[in-house]
Amino acid sequence: MMNIPDKMKAIYLTKPQTFEMREIDTPKITEAHQVLVKTKAVGVCGSDLHAWNGAHKDVVMPAILGHEIVGEVVACGGAVTNVKVGDHVVREPIDYCGTCYACTHGRPNVCPDLKVWGFAHDGGHRQYFLSECEKLYRFPETVDWTVAAMLEPYTIAAEVNDRANIQAGDTVMIYGLGPAGISIGDWAKYHGATVFASDVIPKRLEMARAFGFDQVLDASRVDVNKEIMRLTFGKGVNVLIDAAGFPGALDNALNLITPLGRIVPVAINFNSVSFPMIWFDLKEASIVGSRLEAGKFPVVICELKNHEQHIRQMVTNVFPYTQLGEAFELAASRDPDVCKIVVNYDL
Ligand SMILES: [Zn+2]
Ligand SMILES: [Zn+2]
Repeated sequence: MMNIPDKMKAIYLTKPQTFEMREIDTPKITEAHQVLVKTKAVGVCGSDLHAWNGAHKDVVMPAILGHEIVGEVVACGGAVTNVKVGDHVVREPIDYCGTCYACTHGRPNVCPDLKVWGFAHDGGHRQYFLSECEKLYRFPETVDWTVAAMLEPYTIAAEVNDRANIQAGDTVMIYGLGPAGISIGDWAKYHGATVFASDVIPKRLEMARAFGFDQVLDASRVDVNKEIMRLTFGKGVNVLIDAAGFPGALDNALNLITPLGRIVPVAINFNSVSFPMIWFDLKEASIVGSRLEAGKFPVVICELKNHEQHIRQMVTNVFPYTQLGEAFELAASRDPDVCKIVVNYDL
């Protein structure tokens, strides 16, 4: 039996850019399907920064952020059979109704009643959390906690690949090589696609080259769209992914894809785009949305070993949870040397 203290630390966002560490009661299992997990690592994501700045509509302060959450099972309710004490687990960070059109069609990630942990519901920045057992997925104990914190971002990458129906032999272009863009490309590359990508930050371009991306374009030096057409002999790419979100990024998208091409807007972007609709028919083109993930944890855990070396390079900074504020300040600083920041609770 694990020693579980009565009190634990939880870190609340109490006002924009301000965290407060509080001592609260450690939650107790009250229902048979519940699991108590000791938090080990939590990734910091662009959407967390939004919340930290007080700009996320779902976050009501005081709030506990963090949706990229891994930990160790320390207690299980009587009906739990999928995990046991000592297991290393990742928490699928979404709660949903289970009965709506999306939920009953295997797409709970777009449930109208979706509650994402770390935004609408309390997230991972606390020493222990309770979870329904079915939202927990085991992964091998040999995986470092800080690497495992990238499981959730990789489910997003797998989801984008799935939504875009990226197949071996496809040519894929990705605007933006932040953690999202680079992991989407890493997944596509591993599954046999030819991957082109662009960014302006030297360290990111370097990383994409080191990961074996086929063409890495420095958008500060070349006309990226011209290069796409040159590299494809005027044909265009099969899939165009916007993981950058700069205004106008997709204005020209229909000209840059081949017939049957797919366009995926991944970055948060409130801008409008206008297309002549006829091109959707003439090319049988599609624009596909991609939100969070649906059912991707098992496949990502299964394939983690194929991406582990790259993930290790992507995690550029690790902070102890006692320095959560510093971690967010660094994330907000847009330091070009920073790729992924992970907060360590395994102290
Ligand atoms: Zn995230
Ligand atoms: Zn639903």
